[in-house]
Amino acid sequence: MKLHRRDFIKSAGVAAGALLFTHCANTRFLLNGQKKANSMILTFKPYLLQLKHAFNLAQSSRTTTPIMLVKIDFNGFTGYGEASMPPYLGESHETVAKFLAKTDLSQFPDPFRLDDILDYIDGIEENNRAAKASIDMALHDLIGKITNQPLYNIWGINPQNTPLTSFTIGMDTPEIVQQKTLEAAPFKILKVKLGRNNDKELIETIRAVTDKPIVVDVNQGWTDKKLALDMIHWLNEKNVLFVEQPMPKEMIDEMAWLTQNSPLPTFADEAFQRKSDIVKFKGVYSGINIKLMKSTGLREAHQMIIIARALGMKVMIGCMTETSCAVSAAAQLSAWADFADLDGNLLITNDIYDGVKVIDGKITLNNLPGIGVKALQPDFFD
Ligand code: MG
Repeated sequence: MKLHRRDFIKSAGVAAGALLFTHCANTRFLLNGQKKANSMILTFKPYLLQLKHAFNLAQSSRTTTPIMLVKIDFNGFTGYGEASMPPYLGESHETVAKFLAKTDLSQFPDPFRLDDILDYIDGIEENNRAAKASIDMALHDLIGKITNQPLYNIWGINPQNTPLTSFTIGMDTPEIVQQKTLEAAPFKILKVKLGRNNDKELIETIRAVTDKPIVVDVNQGWTDKKLALDMIHWLNEKNVLFVEQPMPKEMIDEMAWLTQNSPLPTFADEAFQRKSDIVKFKGVYSGINIKLMKSTGLREAHQMIIIARALGMKVMIGCMTETSCAVSAAAQLSAWADFADLDGNLLITNDIYDGVKVIDGKITLNNLPGIGVKALQPDFFD
């Protein structure tokens, strides 16, 4: 049956909406399937990640994260991608399905026209950054598979230069925090979410069981710059390496004062999404936390690294809760970063990809072509 685009978009939106309420696990979308035999075919299907532990931030808590898994088939090759939608990004299964249903890859001859394709994708809607990232990722995977090269080889990156990754210990009761800390034994850097009224107690709870370096993410939770500076001085005595997003993103002058006086580097996360935001951060933050779901994918993440370096800023590569698909894609870039926070796949119980590994605390890339993943359920999209 041939479906007119407007009807398809409508039905895709309804189907995705239905999934949110009925867990209609077999919802499947096939676009452009009736087009030219050698055109790129985009398929996408919603999925719900189950978290090992409730994810408690300064302002929210949750046990699942909705994602959309994507593949693009071309001439016998398959590229994989993923959109992860933590609630604060404002995207959902429905918005991502609507966005993907609007894309028409059949107008491009092959995935090597990456710039043309991604400029077109970026122009479809202003936001939908995670949806855009899923296509960017699948195209990069496809290019690597067609050329039979891992992405890091295509970019000329030495895979040995990947950094250690931090592992997140979420806010919780002291007993659970200590249990999570023990579970994190393979990791050499711990990440701790602060921003409630028990920050010192939480750090002391962890320090009671380990002296490993800690990085902290305040998720905008501190609103008084002088108290924030006092806290950073205290953290500096506790073997903490840096402080991520200490203050609300709108408090730019306070943040610049804090960075100038801070004994530890500060990193922007919630404060920015796209590359055009970065230039105004010189002197405001010491560095930026790049995530594919903010940057619209690998192409712009790569550009962000170049911009940050030109401004003399530090770089970390982070992630959302994601499968090994998106985490492995981000890991391809990680050798260019000062820090990695790529543990999203390790915080879930239902990963359906196998990819990058953490060995001895370090991001360890494999030699698979593309973004370096194998599908554990090859029939997932059927
Ligand atoms: Mg963060």
